[in-house]
Amino acid sequence: MTDAKQDGKRSHGEHRRASVSIRLLNALLLVVCLLLILFSLFELQRTTRYAHSLYQLEQERQRCDMAIQKLMDGSDYLTTQVQQYVVTGERRYMDNYWREIYETKSREMALLTILSMNITTAEREAAQAGKQESDALMKGEIWAMRMVAESTGIEETDMPAAVAALQLPPVDVAKSAQEKRDTAIAFVFGPDYSVYKDTIRGNVNAFRNEIASRYAAEALSTLEKTERTTKFMAGGLVVFLALLAGSVIGFARLVVFPLVGFSNALSERNEEEHFVPLEEKGVSEIRRFAEAFNILSAQVEQKTRRLERMGYVDYLTEVPNRASITQYVTSLIEQDQHPLGLLIIDIDNFKIFNDTYGHALGDQVLRQVAKAVCAAQPEESGIAGRLCGEEFIVAMQNANEQTLQKTAEAALQNVRRITKADVGLPNLKDFHITVSVGGMLWRGEPTNFILLLSQADKALYVSKGTGKDKYTFYDDVKETA
Ligand code: GH3
Ligand code: MG
Ligand code: MG
Repeated sequence: MTDAKQDGKRSHGEHRRASVSIRLLNALLLVVCLLLILFSLFELQRTTRYAHSLYQLEQERQRCDMAIQKLMDGSDYLTTQVQQYVVTGERRYMDNYWREIYETKSREMALLTILSMNITTAEREAAQAGKQESDALMKGEIWAMRMVAESTGIEETDMPAAVAALQLPPVDVAKSAQEKRDTAIAFVFGPDYSVYKDTIRGNVNAFRNEIASRYAAEALSTLEKTERTTKFMAGGLVVFLALLAGSVIGFARLVVFPLVGFSNALSERNEEEHFVPLEEKGVSEIRRFAEAFNILSAQVEQKTRRLERMGYVDYLTEVPNRASITQYVTSLIEQDQHPLGLLIIDIDNFKIFNDTYGHALGDQVLRQVAKAVCAAQPEESGIAGRLCGEEFIVAMQNANEQTLQKTAEAALQNVRRITKADVGLPNLKDFHITVSVGGMLWRGEPTNFILLLSQADKALYVSKGTGKDKYTFYDDVKETA
């Protein structure tokens, strides 16, 4: 497995371990926000309801207070009219009294108002008792009015019905007009009447206070509820703000920072630099992007390397090609690095082999010979490779006749050792592969790669012409020439 694939697998595993999907984050945030909004709306509605009920409570309290006052005023009005009547004896006061009782009915109206309100049973009973006490006082007042009516000589038929209906006890009938009037005055301004009146007033006031304190208690509890709701809402707001801050930080860490990192990594990279993988962090979508990008980049780089290598390596035998050897030798010549030994190694009768066994087997032979030639090259310094076709080359730094000879012999020997099994022809009867070698030594005279090659080639030509499977050196050819 390639490194890129392994990297891919590893990061994929990590990605699975700490995967946070942006979609999941969004959904979670949306749900929490929705819940918060619903909660806030609910609490807001509750607060509004409380405020409204507080207002209603106050309205009701005021109405109740006014009705109580009206009840009390009605009762006081009756008292005033009776008192005026007994003192002045003027009929209109008595008429006022009865108009209040039968027509205006302010006490009844006030009582009806109070009873129609949302009050407790005890309060209801207290209100009714107040009215009854007021009614009870009326009996005494009717008696006083009858006494005065008689003292002023009003005929019974001319009296208001309730006054006419009252029968005075004999002790009162026996009294003179003045005595009747004085007794009536003594009653309506007397201590018994005042005490009774004060009792009624006291009871009504107690009732009023009770109602007021109940309303105050209700208002207080509503206020407390409002306060609680407001606190809830404030808490919700804090949670919402915390979530908002968390989301902003999370978004920055999981989305923005990784993207900024990518952008920086990509913009800082120049063409010569090797592939630097993007950091696989952030939400799963961004991690997956980085992961895919890294795998892709690694593959691209691998392919580029292979293409680069292909420029310097022979595609068939995978040894250095002519371009690498040319570059190597030329740079030695330019640096005046001599002595330099050169061997050209050419397979013998290769055309016949190709024609007999086919090109594919020929290629096998080329691979084996490439290996054999490279194995002959001394390890210290130099290069061995394929020049072209069935020709190979060895270049050696600091070479001399001995090393040149040793290497040529090693090449011949290595090639002779190639077996038929090596090239995939185990059943072949007559198999040997041999090469011929031409060598030369450059000792510093002006030259170039092509010239050196042609000199070695001349020696090779001699090897070919004198039986093959042997080496010849240019120095010997030159001398004999
Ligand atoms: P000699 O001993 O004189 O060198 O004879 P030869 O047949 O080896 O030389 P010749 O120059 O006549 O033939 C070279 C042959 O090498 C011809 C060609 O089929 C073969 N050849 C060249 N390149 C390749 C290759 O890449 N693959 C294969 N299979 N054969 C190749
Ligand atoms: Mg040849
Ligand atoms: Mg040949």
